[in-house]
Amino acid sequence: MEIIKTIEELKKYRKTTEGKVGFVPTMGHLHDGHLSLMKAAREECNNVIVSIFVNPTQFGPNEDLDAYPRDFERDKRLCEGGSVDCIFYPDVDEMYPREELTIVRVERITQKLCGKTRPTHFQGVTTVVAKLFNIVQPDIAYFGQKDLQQSIVIKRMAEDLNMDIKIKVCPIVREKDGLAMSSRNSYLKENERKAAPVLYESLQKAKGLFEKGENNADKIKETIRNNIEDKVKKEIGNIDYIEIFDTENIDDVKKIKKGNAIALAVFIGKARLIDNIIL
Ligand code: AMP
Repeated sequence: MEIIKTIEELKKYRKTTEGKVGFVPTMGHLHDGHLSLMKAAREECNNVIVSIFVNPTQFGPNEDLDAYPRDFERDKRLCEGGSVDCIFYPDVDEMYPREELTIVRVERITQKLCGKTRPTHFQGVTTVVAKLFNIVQPDIAYFGQKDLQQSIVIKRMAEDLNMDIKIKVCPIVREKDGLAMSSRNSYLKENERKAAPVLYESLQKAKGLFEKGENNADKIKETIRNNIEDKVKKEIGNIDYIEIFDTENIDDVKKIKKGNAIALAVFIGKARLIDNIIL
């Protein structure tokens, strides 16, 4: 497995690869969610490149950039175990050597859901992903449904900018109790961790109601809210949003249809947890 830290070397490496290149962009502190993306890439591509880069431009001023967990040696072992061919592991100066005057911004759909509390988050994501796409030049790039809005935004960016890259979205990998795996779960204290599975439980409950014929979005949101507030008391957290929307334009729906999504974000302790389900 190659470990490459500079853009120039990665471009050189890329000239030596043959066949389909699969790309998995990550911020490291890898878990089974990331490994599932590598596995999907391994199955479909001749060469698998994983990037590990904690991208500062997607963090807001009061967010957890410094606290974000990092452990490259462990990540390296996991990538090796996942039969990755190459890790691209640039430092911040390599990716941003001078003031960036160019940003890639997807309008409108980035201002909803997570964009309301994190107004500059997605332009940080789209800019770094566009840079990574240009550096790595993958045939297929793999993203997780865990970050549903991110995957919708990236797909839209790739289509709008005529990028010749297929975007694949892989299912959410969960802990045994249903909590969606996330590097940020490590912030949770014991009592917070115990409460956290309520996100998934409430989504499952909502799905059950929808399948029984309930299609009133407000009623379903209310059920989810009550469920969460029952477990996540004010002392440990609060709900950021619960939204039901179509997966192309992220427009709110009042009457839910098959294919719509429910997404939510909840602050618990120091973590802001997100989860979603497509009906
Ligand atoms: P991150 O390192 O958190 O930026 O995530 C890198 C990629 O892994 C993104 O495409 C995420 O959506 C995906 N990912 C993170 N957690 C999970 C999970 N639990 N299941 C599936 N994919 C995930």
